[in-house]
Amino acid sequence: MIKNGLLVKGVGGLYSVQTDDALYTCTARGVFRNKKISPLAGDKVSILIEDEEKKTASIQTIEPRKNTLLRPAAANIDRVIVTMAAAQPDFNAGLLDRFLIIVARAGIEAVVCINKSDLLGPSVVDAPLFMPYKMAGYPVIFVSAKTEGGLAPLHAALAGKLTVFAGPSGVGKSSLINTLLPHAQQEVGEISTKLRRGKHTTRAATVNTVNANEDVSMTLAERLKNGYVVDTPGFSSLDIEQIPPRELGLYFKEFLPFIGLCKFTDCTHNIHDKTEHCAVKAQINKKIHKKRYDSYLKIMNHVV
Ligand code: GDP
Ligand code: ZN
Repeated sequence: MIKNGLLVKGVGGLYSVQTDDALYTCTARGVFRNKKISPLAGDKVSILIEDEEKKTASIQTIEPRKNTLLRPAAANIDRVIVTMAAAQPDFNAGLLDRFLIIVARAGIEAVVCINKSDLLGPSVVDAPLFMPYKMAGYPVIFVSAKTEGGLAPLHAALAGKLTVFAGPSGVGKSSLINTLLPHAQQEVGEISTKLRRGKHTTRAATVNTVNANEDVSMTLAERLKNGYVVDTPGFSSLDIEQIPPRELGLYFKEFLPFIGLCKFTDCTHNIHDKTEHCAVKAQINKKIHKKRYDSYLKIMNHVV
């Protein structure tokens, strides 16, 4: 019997696949190995049931991926929560911009999450630091993993999506994941015990259902509606030097409506371009925040 499911974890050649009715421990067909395709967490797969009682199966096919991430190794990511701290470490706009570029370049939707809001107090939501991102059209969510303040909108942002948390180290990504998914640890433990088989296992990405009340009778569709979160934060590498200068503007969300309106099609919206020729520059202090434009120039000069 063939069933469809979501690959939630892979360790040492064994994969956990959630179908509508159960979690199966699967091997992958040799054909994937020959083609050098590794099934990834987030993959939509079909499996051939081998033993219904023992819940074992083998992966037959992998659906074409919407996207693939290397760190964490996962596929079909819908949304990246780019997490920064309001303080400790100090908020770093240039770093946030770089993360947003990488996420945009991967073709994934981004949400900006400001953690450690407790350190700045209630005024954090109106702090000018974060204005450029609101202006750019990013959802900006203020939270505190410590006090658990503001978690409801973040929780809501996870619904129906396969989400990865990204951001520099120390901003509280792991704390947030643990706070949002207190059940995940336990679930991961259960799966890995089943898969361990006595040998040493390497750390692999797991997707955890955003479902506070673990209910084994939930269908996959119901689980997907709640959403899944990858347990390992991603995008630790910020290698954007490969981006051609003419492409860079495409990854500044708020530039997009104006890029096609510049007089010259090869316009890079540079400091030397005349404002009357450049539709992007013409929007500075209008629809484009000066800080984001300055950051664009800085990053471009590094890129070129
Ligand atoms: P990660 O490297 O991004 O995964 O960050 P961690 O989750 O390991 O957290 C780094 C440090 O920040 C730890 O000492 C946490 O206790 C602390 N931390 C995490 N979230 C908060 C928060 O909302 N407020 C405060 N004040 N500290 C936090
Ligand atoms: Zn231009």
